[in-house]
Amino acid sequence: MSDNPYLAKKNSAKAYIGRFAPSPTGPLHFGSLIAATASYLCARQKQGQWLLRIEDVDIPRTQKGATQAIIQALEEYGFEWSGNIRYQSEQCQDYQDALDQLQAFTYPCSCTRKSLQARAATGTFSYIYPGYCRNGLSQPQASQTSMRLRSDINSCLNKADFIELCQATPYSQHIEKEVGDFILKRSDGLFSYQLAVVVDDHLQGVTDIVRGADLFNNTPRQNYLQCLLGYSQPRYLHFPVAVYDNGKKLSKQNASAPISLQKKRSTLLLALQFLGQAPPRLDNFSSIDDIWQWAVQNWDIDLIPKRLTQTIHDYEN
Ligand SMILES: [Zn+2]
Repeated sequence: MSDNPYLAKKNSAKAYIGRFAPSPTGPLHFGSLIAATASYLCARQKQGQWLLRIEDVDIPRTQKGATQAIIQALEEYGFEWSGNIRYQSEQCQDYQDALDQLQAFTYPCSCTRKSLQARAATGTFSYIYPGYCRNGLSQPQASQTSMRLRSDINSCLNKADFIELCQATPYSQHIEKEVGDFILKRSDGLFSYQLAVVVDDHLQGVTDIVRGADLFNNTPRQNYLQCLLGYSQPRYLHFPVAVYDNGKKLSKQNASAPISLQKKRSTLLLALQFLGQAPPRLDNFSSIDDIWQWAVQNWDIDLIPKRLTQTIHDYEN
């Protein structure tokens, strides 16, 4: 790990390494502030490092200026990350190397969404892909193909259970039946989120992943990939995802407002309350640094609500 450019020099291999990995599809909203806060406090309290990664692997979805806006908001809120920021859009060679390493388990697929619509069952995520092209392209004339990963490699399927530090409900997923052979490289040539995130976490030496429970059911696929690639498996903590009264999650897709750069202290206190912490009232803190000091000392993951979603009523920008 000594040559890991994402870490400060003092790091030893066994120390806690956490990360925050926003997608630059829009400015930082309250839901992503919660994610940054939870992962940051876990790392700070363990005197570990907290890395920043910009998940811009899905280039068409990135919004111009969003990366800068996110970094600026994090700086204004007093977050301090270690080492260099990793940008997924610059790591294609790493993803290709991993894909090459998985060659024995992957195959090209010519199926389009439209062709699957007619044939395949729908699962939690998308169509459950039962391997139509495992033994050759189902449409040999196809000009564009994706790369899929076989979901039936038993030696790693049983390693797709993960250590979860927050959620009360045990979770298990039968990848082959519930997801099927999933895509690692899309037909437009872009690498999938699942592959990118697993490779990044490995290369950045991440030991602990703290993220929203909307990613809970992605975890078995990521553990499956980690096993196939021979990577070690990080620990996981999934905190509840913030939803509006109507049940919709706060996200850039739902046009959630950017977090306020004027009311930073009260916004950060709301994020802490959302995470089950009980900070003193706003007038006890004269600066954002005061809040961080309190939060690092008092952060308690046992207070985080053990549920997948949680409604926010109070937050208005
Ligand atoms: Zn296919």
